[in-house]
Amino acid sequence: MAKSCDFCYSIESGDNRILSGGEESKRVYICEDCVATVYGLLYGEDEPKKTKNDNKKKKIFQVDRVLTPKELKAILDSFVIGQERAKKIFSVGVYNHYKRVFKQDTIDNDTEISKSNILLIGPTGSGKTLMAQTLAKSLEVPLAITDATSLTEAGYVGEDVENILTRLYNASGGDVDKTQKGIVFIDEIDKIARMGENRSITRDVSGEGVQQAMLKIVEGSKVNISAKGGRKNPSQDFIEIDTTNILFVCGGAFEGLSDIIKRRVDSKSLGFAQGNQKKLTDEDVLKKIEPDDLIHYGLIPELIGRLHSIASLNELKLEDMVRILTEPKNSIINQYQKLFEIDGVGLEFTDDAITEIAKLALKRKTGARGLRTIIEEMMIDIMFELPELYGKIVTITKETIDTHEADICDMKKIA
Ligand code: ADP
Repeated sequence: MAKSCDFCYSIESGDNRILSGGEESKRVYICEDCVATVYGLLYGEDEPKKTKNDNKKKKIFQVDRVLTPKELKAILDSFVIGQERAKKIFSVGVYNHYKRVFKQDTIDNDTEISKSNILLIGPTGSGKTLMAQTLAKSLEVPLAITDATSLTEAGYVGEDVENILTRLYNASGGDVDKTQKGIVFIDEIDKIARMGENRSITRDVSGEGVQQAMLKIVEGSKVNISAKGGRKNPSQDFIEIDTTNILFVCGGAFEGLSDIIKRRVDSKSLGFAQGNQKKLTDEDVLKKIEPDDLIHYGLIPELIGRLHSIASLNELKLEDMVRILTEPKNSIINQYQKLFEIDGVGLEFTDDAITEIAKLALKRKTGARGLRTIIEEMMIDIMFELPELYGKIVTITKETIDTHEADICDMKKIA
């Protein structure tokens, strides 16, 4: 895995060395630039030293340097566990988008590259939002996350589609230029599908109208927004936002979609993998998705035509849950360890405890989201006592999950 700086997320390269320290399980990384910046701050320079990689720090906004798909995937690898294929497709989609945004003027005028947005299909809590959040943060572009079910056609009760842009504008700190290069993540897009054939989900009929309203901003248009959001009021000043270079990422679980794909493809060729007669899983089936399947699901063709990259994320398995607890840089266990550290308390989890938490989260069927809920429930009583535990080490065992009582010993004894 490529090393990346824990402070600015830059990736190791020939002219940007990364230093590391600490024991293996808790290793931290810092790049040369951040070392120079910290040195400047500590030893009295008002302005951090100008470093050789300063230009690189501009990341995506630097016109002649768009991070490569491999670099983008390496960033995703540090935070998103598993989902290899989806991370690859997402990295390529993001790369193509920003290449188009920043390099259009280097291509001859007759070949305008069309806007391509991304659709992420996967169960709840599998990392769809996390992927968008991770790249937006690393690329320093603003991100607005919204839920398609809260959107309505203009004039209906609910949130106007344009309000997503107001959120993006606010996330950019009121910078129109940044807003116009930001990322909008629209979750639960499957819930605004019009009633497809053979689908029994009952849903309000406005789905198609909302899709039409979304289409307008997704395909690229100039939209007037009011900085405060809410219903447009003639007395407010409008800000014009051009959505042509905004990257729209749509996400949804699309339950039942694999049945539609199965029906389309000849059941014999799909039901059995060539040669070895192995039954294909829903995940294998989803890889064969075509735009037509989404039309049958109830998305309007015009909207699908704007979502060029389609990636499917797998349901997380026990091993993934265990890795999510322990591996990512900001894993929930790391976060709790930092919280404990502030009070001078050590925190450890036994392997048994980690496996048990992962198993329980699987049962809840809310994906990796369940991990946090379980740990938070379990930690309340311990957190209540935390300030009085200075100098101790708290060990979470399998039993702690039920009893909410951990093993506590003095730090000295362990050392
Ligand atoms: P969704 O797929 O519903 O958008 P999220 O991306 O919001 O799910 O995931 C919820 C939380 O679960 C994330 O904030 C993250 O902590 C954790 N999570 C989910 N999937 C992964 C994953 N593949 N790798 C690491 N953490 C994950």
